[in-house]
Amino acid sequence: VSLFNAGPAKLPRPVLLKLQKELLDYNGLGYSIMELSHRSAAYARLNADTEQMLRESMSIPCSHAILFMHGGGTGQFSAIPLNFMETKGRTTAEHGVETRTADYVVTGLWSSKAAQEAKKFGHINMVCPVPEKFTYVPEPATWAPSIDASYLYYCANETIHGVEFPEVPTPPTPHAPLVADISSNFLSRPMDVSKLGLAFAGAQKNAGCAGLTIVIVQRELLGRCDPRCPVVLDYGIVEKHSSVYNTPPVWSLFVFNQVLKWIQETGGLPAMEAMNKAKSKRIFDAIDQSGGFYSSAVEDKWRSRMNIPFRVGGPNGSQELETAFLTGAEARGMVGLKGHRSMGGIRASLYNAVTEDEVFLLSSYMEEFMSANR
Ligand code: PLP
Repeated sequence: VSLFNAGPAKLPRPVLLKLQKELLDYNGLGYSIMELSHRSAAYARLNADTEQMLRESMSIPCSHAILFMHGGGTGQFSAIPLNFMETKGRTTAEHGVETRTADYVVTGLWSSKAAQEAKKFGHINMVCPVPEKFTYVPEPATWAPSIDASYLYYCANETIHGVEFPEVPTPPTPHAPLVADISSNFLSRPMDVSKLGLAFAGAQKNAGCAGLTIVIVQRELLGRCDPRCPVVLDYGIVEKHSSVYNTPPVWSLFVFNQVLKWIQETGGLPAMEAMNKAKSKRIFDAIDQSGGFYSSAVEDKWRSRMNIPFRVGGPNGSQELETAFLTGAEARGMVGLKGHRSMGGIRASLYNAVTEDEVFLLSSYMEEFMSANR
């Protein structure tokens, strides 16, 4: 089976085989990794080794701490305002005289959810107009950051709409620390995290399985957490306790560790990027060379290499053709291609573990389906 799921997503085959082995006997201890105490020396080594591998793979400077947390991306939607929003003088109808402000860029459903959650904790300033159909990002040079914002939040890759920032944006100065949701393009390409105050990702796309959330945070931003923040979301506390303040998701961390090893053995992030560029180009070529039979609404500059939503049979899609497309794909062993329920159509998610052969299978099928149905 070829899995094109948006997440939880496909894992590299060699990683799955290793996991199968360690599930029964971790490192020759005679018991499973799932049964390993998080207070053991073996776990401390695993934790430190994973952190070190991530630091090396992404060239994360020591100015930034790496945290392993619970709660998924959605947990971070609350953790970020709770940890970073500082009280500054401003009057708003919702929050009164003393309020806390953050800047948000909304480019799809995930950044929209993040902004919605942050509204519970302070005033949200939209730094640019929200694109009606989420098919592009308003140019960062035109953004209007507010002077009293505690941070500026954006989503580096909108998993549902297929809109990706090709690099860390440069908003007009002066601006607050940048906070990025990198859940769905984490480890897919090199990324200059030194430009970010914080980046976070749920592990269930390019980094393993659900249960683990990775947070990369500039140390100088720690220590300003709202005292009402739940302790498991307090970055300062998690950092002080080396990510074992409470029981960590041991299994998910081990899976992440194995994925990082696989990435290193496969040539690191430059190799992931080259592969992902080639894979996404193949699908975009199939779309662009179809004379409108397939269509992608996202503007070229902002097209995601990870998630490619497209329609079959015209820009609004034909339900009949799209159903037939998905049925034919499943019959050929390709699953997970149905578009998000809010969008309809097709979505091909091409995370690191999806092989070039699998993408070739999909693009060949797209050509075959078009010849038979146009
Ligand atoms: N951010 C992005 C970009 C996502 O794709 C997702 C989930 O798919 C989330 C956040 C939410 O993650 P979680 O389901 O782990 O809370």
